[in-house]
Amino acid sequence: MQKTRTAVITGSTSGIGLGVAHALAAEGHNVVINSYTDNDADHALAEEISAKHGNRTVYIQADMSKGEAARALIGKAAEAFGHVDILVNNAGIQHVAAIEEFPVETWDRVIAINMNSAFHTTAAALPMMREHKWGRVVNIASAHGLTASPFKSAYVTAKHGVVGMTKVVALETAEAPITCNAICPGYVLTPLVEAQLPDTMEKYGMDRETVVREVLLERQPSKQFATVEQIGGTVVFLCSDHAEQITGTTISVDGGWTAL
Ligand code: NAD
Repeated sequence: MQKTRTAVITGSTSGIGLGVAHALAAEGHNVVINSYTDNDADHALAEEISAKHGNRTVYIQADMSKGEAARALIGKAAEAFGHVDILVNNAGIQHVAAIEEFPVETWDRVIAINMNSAFHTTAAALPMMREHKWGRVVNIASAHGLTASPFKSAYVTAKHGVVGMTKVVALETAEAPITCNAICPGYVLTPLVEAQLPDTMEKYGMDRETVVREVLLERQPSKQFATVEQIGGTVVFLCSDHAEQITGTTISVDGGWTAL
């Protein structure tokens, strides 16, 4: 029987993070879900996950745009469960604008949430992983961590940064039984992607179905979205014994995007 681990997933009340939370909960692990809000629905979501999988899930509020809060999330998770074994850096936002028009505050926010938060949570979690002689850091980067698209300068910059950080953390922990890898999804139909649809439909004068096929999935050769379950399953694999010697690398779940 596998050991029960404690997993923290940042930005996990919707989309990929929530899918990862369900996947790790289904393995029987303790799960901490997180977002920047603090309302009844967040705690109810944690209860829903526990009820579905019979594991222990709690919600801990922390704003990933703030370094201290990101570090405190790890401390609070350790208070709840003893320590942290699995860290999934998933919180992320998107903003689409030409670089000359990119609002400075939005640039800073995308970099803070999508990249800096992973620095803070990883720095806070590694000492516990070293002490307990086991750890898994999984960064949810993106196909945009390996390649670029116009009008997504902050996002592409942050995701390339996360891929670089993944390699450094892997090297610094190589002799400890700790691994650090990045998953690079192509398009997954989540609220983050849904939010980009109205503007794209207007820009190209296309209906939703055409925008999805001709614009979003244009670079995804499978012409299918990846699913949150597939990303969750990849995280579970990276946390398994089979993946013990996989570290410092990226796993693309992108329907062939980065093979182009
Ligand atoms: P989503 O918008 O569905 O979910 C994002 C989650 O992050 C939400 O739970 C939200 O509450 C939380 N969040 C936002 N700001 C936060 C903050 N300041 N502090 C804490 N939590 C915060 O997005 P998603 O599509 O599931 O994206 C999750 C991750 O996957 C992101 O890092 C994104 O860049 C990456 N990704 C997504 C896709 C895709 O196509 N959806 C593709 C590649 C990579």
